[in-house]
Amino acid sequence: MEQAKKTAAYRVVADSGGSRVFRFYCDISGELCCVTRPIQADTEEAALEIAWATEGKWEFNHCPQCGKYVSSAMFNVNAGLCLDCAPWEAEFPAFCHQCGVRLQGATPRCCPICGARLLVGGTAGGKGAVE
Ligand SMILES: [Zn+2]
Ligand SMILES: [Zn+2]
Repeated sequence: MEQAKKTAAYRVVADSGGSRVFRFYCDISGELCCVTRPIQADTEEAALEIAWATEGKWEFNHCPQCGKYVSSAMFNVNAGLCLDCAPWEAEFPAFCHQCGVRLQGATPRCCPICGARLLVGGTAGGKGAVE
């Protein structure tokens, strides 16, 4: 069995004071989802653990099937899986992935309640989500 991923994809930037700032990226879209505060720790591994536990993981959804960490835009809340494992149906989703409102009838491209762009047909064109 493959070792489970412990964090999302990340880059680390060390400053001259010995702190490290982590940038966490969605495993599917590559979108930058989280930039941590500077973290002081002896090793990069230790700093990563702190960065992920205190900040990073709260910005991500973990797919229990493939183990990816993905942004909310890349997560199918109806299925509880990432969009790689559970693409939105070819039709519009039944629920807004952002605010969870039930979508009925002819659905516009955006959620009528919160304005979230509704993702259709998996990950194609899923770039450019704005917080
Ligand atoms: Zn998945
Ligand atoms: Zn919504």
